[in-house]
Parts: sequence; structure tokens; C-alpha cells
Amino acid sequence: MTSTKPTGAQIRKDFIDFFVEQGHTIVPSASLVPGGDQTLLFTNAGMVQFKDVFLGTDKRPYKRATDSQKCMRVSGKHNDLDDVGRDSIHHTFFEMLGNWSFGDYYKKEAIAWAWQLLTDVWRLPKADLWTTIFRDDKGDIPQDDEAAENWRIQPGINPDHVLFFGRKDNFWEMAEIGPCGPCSEIHLDRGISYCDKQDIPGHVCQVNGDCQRFLELWNLVFIQYNRLSPTLLEPLPAKHVDTGMGFERIVSILQGVDSNYRTDLLWPLILTTQKLTGQTDEQREEHFTSYRVIADHARAAAFLIADGVVPGNQKRNYITRMIIRRAYRFGGKVGLHQPFLSHVSDVVISTYGDFYPELKRNRKSILISITREEEQFQRTLDRATSQLEYLLDEAIKSGLKLLSGANAADLYTTYGMPFEITRDIARERGLDVDKTGFDFSMDEHSLASGAGKAMGELGGEDVEIFRQIVEDLEHQGSLSTKGVEYDPYSRLEVSGKVLAIFSQGKPIQNATPGEEIEIILPETCFYIESGGQVSDTGWISSLDSTWEIEVHNMRKPAAGVIVHVCKVVKGHPSVGDEAIAKVDTQRRRDIMRNHTATHLLHAELRRVLGEHARQNGSLVAPDRLRFDFTHPEAVTPNQLIQIEAGVNQHILGDYQLKTTIKPLAQAIAEGAMALFGEKYTETVRTITIGGEQPFSYELCGGTHVGETGDIGIFLITSEGSVAAGIRRIEAVTGQKAYELIQNRFAKSSQAASLLGGTPETLPENITSLLAELNASQKQVSTLRQNLVSAEFKQKLGQVKLVNGISLLVAKLTDADAEALRQMADRFRQQYSSTGIAVLGSIKDGRPIVIAAITDDLVSYGVNAIDLVKFVAKPLGGAGGGKPTLAQAGGKDASMLDSALEDVEAWVKQQSHP
Ligand SMILES: [Zn+2]
Ligand SMILES: [Zn+2]
Repeated sequence: MTSTKPTGAQIRKDFIDFFVEQGHTIVPSASLVPGGDQTLLFTNAGMVQFKDVFLGTDKRPYKRATDSQKCMRVSGKHNDLDDVGRDSIHHTFFEMLGNWSFGDYYKKEAIAWAWQLLTDVWRLPKADLWTTIFRDDKGDIPQDDEAAENWRIQPGINPDHVLFFGRKDNFWEMAEIGPCGPCSEIHLDRGISYCDKQDIPGHVCQVNGDCQRFLELWNLVFIQYNRLSPTLLEPLPAKHVDTGMGFERIVSILQGVDSNYRTDLLWPLILTTQKLTGQTDEQREEHFTSYRVIADHARAAAFLIADGVVPGNQKRNYITRMIIRRAYRFGGKVGLHQPFLSHVSDVVISTYGDFYPELKRNRKSILISITREEEQFQRTLDRATSQLEYLLDEAIKSGLKLLSGANAADLYTTYGMPFEITRDIARERGLDVDKTGFDFSMDEHSLASGAGKAMGELGGEDVEIFRQIVEDLEHQGSLSTKGVEYDPYSRLEVSGKVLAIFSQGKPIQNATPGEEIEIILPETCFYIESGGQVSDTGWISSLDSTWEIEVHNMRKPAAGVIVHVCKVVKGHPSVGDEAIAKVDTQRRRDIMRNHTATHLLHAELRRVLGEHARQNGSLVAPDRLRFDFTHPEAVTPNQLIQIEAGVNQHILGDYQLKTTIKPLAQAIAEGAMALFGEKYTETVRTITIGGEQPFSYELCGGTHVGETGDIGIFLITSEGSVAAGIRRIEAVTGQKAYELIQNRFAKSSQAASLLGGTPETLPENITSLLAELNASQKQVSTLRQNLVSAEFKQKLGQVKLVNGISLLVAKLTDADAEALRQMADRFRQQYSSTGIAVLGSIKDGRPIVIAAITDDLVSYGVNAIDLVKFVAKPLGGAGGGKPTLAQAGGKDASMLDSALEDVEAWVKQQSHP
């Protein structure tokens, strides 16, 4: 690469700067973990974070946006993993550049700007560019003439390069119903020499001809319809633009290289790997697949862990585990047999860290997590591989083409060998693996199979009804244009007219006692569940108290629409009634204590355990708080004490909480803690605790106490594991903590008085009680031994001569294996030759048997192991030991007597050849 080529970072900046000049707002990339969307495993396209805007359930303060979005495609519909490593263009992680119009500019501007950026700014040869336009192959949807006309007028464009394609290539849909529209793609002709299908008969070398010659650079989507059914489209009132340009691809073109992996984004990772392997350039090219996989996976792992997705067993965490392990295995193919991937990921952090500062912030935990995961896999990889090789040999011998899913599942549960690696290895030997069978076998582990649809479900209910009513209310002036005013922070009580009542999703005028309804007021102070904090409950009543409603939940079905989910307790609430709404204050105070306490806990976890301990989900309820965080091992009792004490120190410090509203980008730059999987708006609320030197600074929309002293007291009630690498702490505060202390006090007083002391003397009293107990137990055991040996002495008198052999068969009361062994020894002391003893007992409901045979008989071929197995068989057990002394256990104690009775016959048979 010569120095005149623009760097990847410069190209990304060119794109964003260009659209900022056209009045676009820079929107930071959303997390790889989609906010508030459980149906999607990872953010897989630029539009994921704007989905709500297109669906009309959210509004943004800007109408034009530009961004570079982090994306992952490893499962579900968009699954590129199979191709990663095999070619030069597929990745698990990649960036998508985009510009967006939300009901603002449309085709004319979008097309002109795209042309301008590509040909003026980046100077791509106009003659090599082609565009595609929508023409319905089914003839139902109008052809996109508007786009075609706009393309044909671009300066220098060859009008013959404007082509029409059908639904598969040029019509975009979010889901089966919902927003959709035609799209227009821009392709670059790299010349006939790039065609990899010239030899294939019937290949037509053209745009969408599926060869390497024409590269799709950019897709401009024009959202202008709402699909109501498979055959019914209605025009949208507001039209949108959504564009996506694969970042790695444009960089490869502008840097003049024929592979994404040879751009300055990924090439340093390849070189770092080469340095580690010590291979020559020729060897590197020969093993380029391994280098590609390692570079791709090292990058994906760094970005995933930076977004809180640490390696683990479930869903997203499984993906991180799988790609690290897969990279490690490919490392083995180029001679790397020690953990190495963190060195490559470290280069990712330095390459991308300026644009994605989360990489730098989490550098330590990224590198540690990767190495730890490799070490764990290193321990089992060899055994897993040889087991797999064996299974593959067997399969090939039997002429199979498919390795069974159950085998693959075994390899994962026993050796932690991810399915994808099993498949890699099987394919190298010409076999495939039964994925359906694997999923079936892994069902209870509910692994990464449930990836879901690309855009998720649109929800069963009719958002339109709510939105229509709210729009009508806005027109009447009963509601502001922002919809229902929401302020759960400054008040716990509001009054206003009942604006709408819904029953089973339909608007009604009056409700009756006992009816479940949803109610809209012009404003509300009830908190709506988010950020782990549960919704408020409370009451709504008429001013004259003729009717009363209990609020048990809150929800927000569409932008600006907030409904109280309630049940009518008495009377007939009607639309238009003056009402007063009151939050359950007691409950809300408990919630606020717990919420502020989670912030204190978060800060203390990071102080005591380290910066890697980051929030991974929480629940803030009135009676408790639950906090999940990333940490590789159990928190020690000593650390727990430190954490709990630290939080209580902060409570005693009685710090005032500072709430500020500021732009998201500013808060992030200042180092405020943001949560993964949480969706943030442009301006965010931040909570700072700690006065002059704050120890806690978080983005948070929750409700909090005024001063930390209001929390009262904080007690940890449990600590445990949720998934690999994720721990959970549960705790109580305020009233619940007080109740817990009271309860413990009462119990300890009760225990103390049982021991005849006070709570202060409880430990000594218990210690001496235990000592007494111990002494008595020893005494009991001595007495029991004496009893057994007295019994045994008696039994020795029952020794019979059977074919010249001294045979003792005896059942002893309540003797354990050790006691039986001692007695067998005593038998052998007394009968040093031609003696056999079989001693049985029932201990804790289970039969045990010991057989002893003197050495001389053993040399004749009589064996205590055979004997004890013979006896154990009817007992449902098995045994083993030495030829002279063997032991067995069993399940069925009721068979012991008859089993012992049969011994004599066995001895007779053995001694009568
Ligand atoms: Zn071709
Ligand atoms: Zn919070």
C-alpha cells in the first residue's frame, strides 16, 4: 500500500463529514446488543436502532442522521459464519455506514449525494458505476420511475448503466407487515479480469450476475409504503431514506486491494498473527484461510466483549465463546498452540479505539477474557479432537456422510467443543454434521439456535388505535403535541381529565366496577418499567371520590402514548371526568432506595473487584434489588464484606444525588456508565453521587432518593452464578433490611436462650456444645465397635467345615465397611489357611458385603472378587477388590439373608472341581 491511499479511519470520516455538511446529525453506533429487542440476537444492520422511528413508536429530535454502525452476523437469517475465512469479503463483525432521512429529504437528494460522494469526493470512475432500480416482476407495485429519473440526470452517468430488477434485488421489507419500499443499489464494475465464473457455461457477466466482477457498494432504501397484508400496500404519509454501505468493502476499493483482509483495517491483524507464527510470506499465503479466520474473530471478540458480551454458554455469550475457540483452533493449524488471540485483539483495540472508545475503556477485560477462554479450551481441545477423529473414522467406515447430532452435542457438553468447530473439522474430512439432531440433543441447553427474525415481531396489538386517539387528542388541544406528559421525578400525584379509556384494546366511554381497563391522562407521574426498575402502582380516583381505580402496571404502546393498566375498584369512571392519580408512595420509596443502592453497589463492585465488573442486567423492585455483573469467579466472603461495608459507608456519608440532563455523547465522553441492551435517547439523564469527588456516574432514567442516607441500610442476601462469567448479587435496603436484622436478632436470642446464654456468648456456647457432641459421638462409636466385636466373637463359633474349608458366613448388626474389614482380618488371623469368610451388614438401609479368602485357597484359584460379585448380584450391586479381600455394596437390603445363604453352595462348587 502506498502512502497516498486514504486510511480506513479517513474514509469513515469522509463519509460522516460529507453528510454532516448536508445537515445530518452524527448518531453514535448502537451497542451490538440491541436495546430493548429480545427477538434479535445482535444488531445486524444500521437500521436496527431506528426501527422504532420507522414503526412510528418513537420520535427523534433530528430528521437527518448519519452513522457507522457495529454489526454482527453469525446466526439466523443473516448468517455469514460459513463464509468467513473462505473468501475475502465475509465477516462476522463489520461496520455499516449509513445516512438517514426520517420524513425529510427523499430520492432526489439521496441519489445526488450518493453520486457526489462516490464520484467527487472519492473520485471513483463514473464509467464503472452501475445502478439498479425497482421494477416489479409481479406487476403489482409501480415501477420506481422517480429513482430512475434522478439517476439519469447525475453528471457523467452512463444512462445505459441504469438497470431494473425485481423484488428479490430491489424491494426492501422490514418484516411480513410494516414499512417497506423500493431500493436502489450502486455497483462497481472492476473489470472482466475479476469475473470468477468465466468458465461456467451460461454465466452472464453483469450486475447481479453473482460473480466477483460487479461489487455492490451501497444500497439506498426508500421507505414509502406500509404493508398491511401480503397483497396490500398503503402509501406512508411520511417517507424515509435508509442507506447502508459496507465499510470494509469501500475501504478495499479506495485502497485498491482485492480483499477486505488486505485493507489497513485487517492487514495489521494478519501481520501480527504472522509474527506470532513466524511463517514466511509464502507460508502465510498458503494458509491464508486460517489468517482470515483469526483476524475476523479477533476483531469480533474484542467488540463483543467491549459491549459486555463475555464468553459463556448461553445465546450471545455462546457466540463470543465459539468465535474465540474457533480462532484458537485455526491458530493450531498455523502452529500456535498457546493462547495467542489477545495479541491480535490488542491490535484491534489500537486500530479501532479512537472511533470506538469502548474498546480502549475495556481493554484489560477484553484481553483477559480472551486469554482465559483460550486456556480453558486448550485443556480439552486435544481430547475433543481425537474423540471427534475417532467418530469421523467410524462414520466414514460405515459409509455415512453425516456425523450424528447427538455425537456433536456430546462433544460440546463433555469437552466444550462448539458445534461450529465440530462442523469445520468434519467438513475438512468431507462429512457434514446433523444440525437438527444437534439442536434436538441440546434442547435443554437452549443454545444459540433461537436467533429470531432480523427485525423481530411487530407486536400483536394495534398500535394504530392508540396512536389515532392520541393524535385526535392533540388536535383537540387536550394533549400537547409531545403526547402524554411524563414526569415521574418531581411529583407523586397529578390531576387531570380522563382523556381515554380502553377495554381489551378498544376505546370505551364508561367502565364498570371490576373491569380491567387502560386509561390515558394528560400527564402522569407513574414510572414506566425501564432500566430494571419496575413500574409504579397506585390509584386513580374522581375528585368527588365516586369512583376509584387501582393501577397495577404502566406501559407505552407507541410514542407519546402512556397508559395506566388498571382495574376499576368502585363506581363508573367516564371519559371527561376530573381525576386525581396517586402513586403508591410507600412502595415507590422502597423502589428508590433500591435503585440508588444499585448505583452504590455497582461503584463498590468496580472498586473491590476491578473495572471489569460491569452491570449485566438488574432488577429494582420494592422488596429487593438484583444486580448481575461480569466477573469470572465467585466473589469471596471477604470481598462481599468489603462491598457491603463500602455501600453502607456511602449511605452514612449522606451524599446528595445530582441529576443532570445532557447530550448522550457528552455523558459518554465524560465516562458515565451506560448499560448494554438499554436504549438511550439523544439527551440523557445522568445521576452523580459523591459530592466533589463523585464515585458513581451513570446514565439512568430511574427514580432515586434525595440523599444516600435515605437508603437506611444495605444488606447483601446472596451471591451466586447466573451463567459463565456472570455473577448475581441480591440485596435489601430500608424497611426490608430492617426486617431482616430484626428477624436475625430474634433468631439469635431464641438460639441463645435455648443454650442458656445470651447472643454475645452464642459462639462459645455452640463451640462447647459441639465439643461435647464430638466426645459423645466418639464414645458411641467405641461402644458400637465393642458390641460388634462381641457379636463377632459369637459368630466365630459358627464356623463350619465345608469340604475341608473353614467357612464363616455371618450377618452383623449395623456394622460399617471398616468394621467388617477389621473382622475379616481377625478371621484370617485365626484361620490362616483354608478359610473363607463372608460378612454382611446393612448400614443406612444399604447392604454391604465383605469376602475374605486365605492365600492358600487363592493359589488354588478361589477368588474373593468372584465371591463378592456372586453375593452382590441378587442385591443389585457390584463389587471389587483383591483376590484375598473384596467388598461389594448393593441396593436391595431385603435380599441380603438369602444371598448369604447361597454362599455355602458356591464354596462347595468351587472346592469340588
Ligand atoms: Zn462474471
Ligand atoms: Zn439507575
